[in-house]
Amino acid sequence: MTTEKSAVRTPSNAVAEVGHWIGGRRLVGDGRRQPVFNPASGDVVRQVCLADAQLADRAVAAAAAAFPSWADTPPIRRARVLNRFLALLNEQRDNLARCITEEHGKVFADAQGEVMRGIEVVEFACGIAQLLKGDYTEQVSTGIDNWTVRQPLGVVAGITPFNFPCMVPCWMFPIAIAAGNTFVLKPSERDPSASLRMAELLKEAGLPDGVFNVVQGDKVAVDAILEHPEVRAVSFVGSTPIARHLYQRGAELGKRVQALGGAKNHLVVMPDADLSQAVDGLIGAAFGSAGERCMAISVAVLVGEAADRIMPQLIERTRALKIGPGTDPQVEMGPVVTRAALERISDAIATGEREGAKLLVDGRGLTVPGHEHGFFLGGSLFDGVRPEMTIYKEEIFGPVLSCVRVPDMQQAIALINAHPFANGVACYTRDGAVAREFARRIQVGMVGINVPIPVPMAWHGFGGWRNSLFGDMHAYGEEGVRFYTRQKSVMQRWPQVTGGAEFAMPTTK
Ligand code: NAD
Repeated sequence: MTTEKSAVRTPSNAVAEVGHWIGGRRLVGDGRRQPVFNPASGDVVRQVCLADAQLADRAVAAAAAAFPSWADTPPIRRARVLNRFLALLNEQRDNLARCITEEHGKVFADAQGEVMRGIEVVEFACGIAQLLKGDYTEQVSTGIDNWTVRQPLGVVAGITPFNFPCMVPCWMFPIAIAAGNTFVLKPSERDPSASLRMAELLKEAGLPDGVFNVVQGDKVAVDAILEHPEVRAVSFVGSTPIARHLYQRGAELGKRVQALGGAKNHLVVMPDADLSQAVDGLIGAAFGSAGERCMAISVAVLVGEAADRIMPQLIERTRALKIGPGTDPQVEMGPVVTRAALERISDAIATGEREGAKLLVDGRGLTVPGHEHGFFLGGSLFDGVRPEMTIYKEEIFGPVLSCVRVPDMQQAIALINAHPFANGVACYTRDGAVAREFARRIQVGMVGINVPIPVPMAWHGFGGWRNSLFGDMHAYGEEGVRFYTRQKSVMQRWPQVTGGAEFAMPTTK
């Protein structure tokens, strides 16, 4: 049974519960619960409700009921609701960021940046009237015109990872609902609160009930959403095995799926690069958000003499990282998300050592005074990493930087192009011709030249290649608009002419 109560309630044990948001109301189910931790203290701060299939069905039903009138609402009026939401998001930016830091662990300034990148997609979605404009050709044949329109799909769903609890949902729902769809979000169960806060703000902005729904949960909720016949499209962001599974199953069911997966992003340092800029780029991109970003740099590809020149600085800067709770403004790197993540990353470091990589800085076993139960790791730095090693092949998703040495740019490009992941990549150089050649030849979805984390702006679209994205379209930007709409072509003859039946394929007359 499900009761309509506050989404965040405080039961007798004084730990608040995070529930669902269905049909414009907060719901707390009676079913399974899972603890949500503050990674900096190791404390359980909330319990998140985990939906069963029935509850997921209820969210889809609410979205399906809201669809006809929302799809009929003129795009400019839908955009006005988003404009009000945008204003509220801007007002609430720091509160959302605080909530993210508490449940995810990232430093507050980074959480503020995440919210801002989400806000930018809302800004883009506010232009939906222009984005939905179709094509028109007059007189394709005598007295006949032909035009195309893009119409919403119906109920669409988003399944999102723990590492960007505000930004990644914002890659999806603002564009989906602006285009006239209704939405069911299944956020990560590890940091579920930001999604509910956004649902409340959408309601406050005037979004009709049922247009945006949140189902908290795990695989059970995801499977129910994926299998539901009313759900026309699924956007997924998370690890590669789940992305691949969702894409395959969704395709079997005839759904549109875009599934963004894991990553192993390389940063190439050419011998002519400004080395101090390259060090800043590497340290920030490898250890920012404790390496828990799909665009984190986890491999430094050091070309020729760049390796020996850069290594002492990398060692020094990795050792000097300021690590502590994300609420401390002096801190550069917070904890990792869970104890299980800490153990998994520590095991990966042990595997790297065992397979013969040189561990120059070991981040394991770090204790932060006053936060002894937090999930802290220091930065780790490996040299002498080779392509056959597990730490090179697999995503670690933690504060571990692996250095690979290669003799020239061609080998750097060949190495990167052979990796199964192809999300982001960067090249540091002062040579324009090298930069141009690199950007042309590299087979990776998002490229930075002297930019370590090239996350595209809201109107450009985000997506990797190979095992980093399953599906044809990137997230957000114009590809996002295409993903959440389908094209209809209308051919009209007016006034009607009567010339009898035609049995040949019509051609221009
Ligand atoms: P995850 O794959 O464990 O979880 C992602 C979502 O899938 C969550 O909502 C989770 O509840 C759900 N899920 C988990 N197991 C499932 C299962 N067996 N069946 C169905 N659903 C399941 O990922 P995560 O740990 O939350 O996030 C980290 C991963 O996400 C990393 O691999 C990272 O690279 C990736 N990521 C990719 C991008 C990108 O844009 N490519 C962006 C952010 C994160």
